[in-house]
Amino acid sequence: MKKTPAQPPIHYAITAPQPNSHLYHVTLTIARPQANQMLMLPVWIPGSYLIREFAKHLQCLHVRQGKRTCTYAQLDKHRWQLHCQADKPVQISYQVYARDNSVRSAWLDSERGFFNATSLCLMAQGLTHKPHHIHISPACKNWHLATGLQALDVDKNGFGTYLAPDYDTLADCPVEMGNFWSGTFTACGVPHRFVIATPPPAFDAQRLLADTRRICQAAMRLWHGNKPQKHIPFKHYIFMLNAVGDGYGGLEHSNSTALIASRKCLPQTNQPTGSDYTTLLGLISHEYFHAWNIKRLKPACFSPYNYAKENYTTLLWFFEGFTSYYDDLLLLRAGCIDLEGYIGQLQKALDSVQNNPGRHIQSAALSSLEAWTKLYRPDENSPNATTNYYTKGALIALCLDLTLRREGHTTLDAVMQTLYQHCFASQKTPFGMTEADLAAVLHALGGRSFANELRQWVHGTEELPLEQLLAHTPIRIRKTPAPLAQQWGLRCKEGASISIQTVLRGSAAEAAGMAAGDEWLGIELPAAAATSSSGADCASHQHNTAWRVGSLAEVQSYLPNSGTNTSTNKGKNKTKGKNQTPAFTAIIARNKRLLRLPMHLPASPLQSLKLVAAPASEPSANNTMAQQPWPWC
Ligand SMILES: [Zn+2]
Repeated sequence: MKKTPAQPPIHYAITAPQPNSHLYHVTLTIARPQANQMLMLPVWIPGSYLIREFAKHLQCLHVRQGKRTCTYAQLDKHRWQLHCQADKPVQISYQVYARDNSVRSAWLDSERGFFNATSLCLMAQGLTHKPHHIHISPACKNWHLATGLQALDVDKNGFGTYLAPDYDTLADCPVEMGNFWSGTFTACGVPHRFVIATPPPAFDAQRLLADTRRICQAAMRLWHGNKPQKHIPFKHYIFMLNAVGDGYGGLEHSNSTALIASRKCLPQTNQPTGSDYTTLLGLISHEYFHAWNIKRLKPACFSPYNYAKENYTTLLWFFEGFTSYYDDLLLLRAGCIDLEGYIGQLQKALDSVQNNPGRHIQSAALSSLEAWTKLYRPDENSPNATTNYYTKGALIALCLDLTLRREGHTTLDAVMQTLYQHCFASQKTPFGMTEADLAAVLHALGGRSFANELRQWVHGTEELPLEQLLAHTPIRIRKTPAPLAQQWGLRCKEGASISIQTVLRGSAAEAAGMAAGDEWLGIELPAAAATSSSGADCASHQHNTAWRVGSLAEVQSYLPNSGTNTSTNKGKNKTKGKNQTPAFTAIIARNKRLLRLPMHLPASPLQSLKLVAAPASEPSANNTMAQQPWPWC
């Protein structure tokens, strides 16, 4: 007698009969449901800290058990209760509208398909720890499929049945389908695949593969030392890049990543590469590093993920910030950028932190906790109220690494390796990392408590001691006059007029009464300034006191002593007083009205911090770093 193959506990069949409708058709079969089985669609996807309400796109849900239609109740926005019997196969069919061209949800048209299971696959509550099978059929004949899922029975193009040991793994393996470009390489013995949807025709595939390989090797050596082969925690890895006209982002997974980037970021054959390509390599480096830092070494509160609501952690400054520190450092170690390029990347992080007055009121730990409502939902007040846990976290990592290396007991690399061993590889319980784990490892390897550093740098809002710490490296900090927008306290778009997006706290623009949403049309100069500006005290010039403007540089060009950013009464009034003559009056359009706002400029230019390579003649503050020369390979 032929034995019937065992029915998998959970089985999804995914089809796309009309891809231009953007509808995936899903049939979920639960072999042995609970009585009144509960189903749920996640409200968020791990790695992207925003409630996204994926169930918004689920429609036409029907349930059958055996030959009969089964009724169900929808309990809320994302949960359903089936009126089914226990232990008798139940079949749930539904459609999901997929037209979000991002890495976070799902997309389908006749050119390409992409999905995360968090958008398409209902969770069978109480059964999420069981094996999940997913059978995916091609929407178009010539399509191929790429995913990090384990193939069970697939055709030469990759369509067929895949296996996930549980729902978490299914949710962690996005699927890319279409006519993509595909290339492979091996790094430290592990096969890697790179697929690109709609790349430009003449992109330099060999260069991209070679650079990505070097980055992967640098990451593996960082986590596992010079002979990493036996310790790498995945058997294969896949990069899935959606090349688009304009876009940027990535989402990390345990053995894959979904990336989106502008086509101009890809290297062109026989063309020199520029900063766009460095940006793409940085994204590749960042998401790959996450395969260790947050997918395996992860916050204790992410074990397990709760897909029904926000999962709060105060540690994103570590998991995103330290990953951001290492993504650039790995590019340097891999030889993809030189010291000058690395300084340029660090400068971006420094500017991001320094240009936000919000750094004075929100710590890196609080920024992590509030990611769901603040960093992921930015508005015109964000620069005034928040600090970015990516860039502040990267600078904290830099400060910590510099401190550890200067004191000579250990390095941040060793701290990361030890945390990985202690909080992931050892499978300790409770599983996952807390700040106490980090503090303990720092104490053990660094030979002293780092409680003060954690309190001030992570939980405090004072400035980081970058200048003192960088004095021990080939990088120096110089103070230079800040750009005009920063001087005056504006974030704006320039064009026919100046469109004001944010007015920075405590700035000249705020004191003048400017507000987000204002359109800055022109300026009026004080009569004395206008004559002085024209260089002649002549009556015929007196009327030329008002000017249409489209950029801040244009505003400045009309000011006397242009370039010094000082008002006409420089030297007379160091501070803004009521009697001080304004440098100019801004003519602003707001709510269909025209306003005249007197603007006083700072008496002395605001300074910004600029990182530069130390001149060869300038020795470091001491030579302790020489034992581990830059770039700390
Ligand atoms: Zn990240």
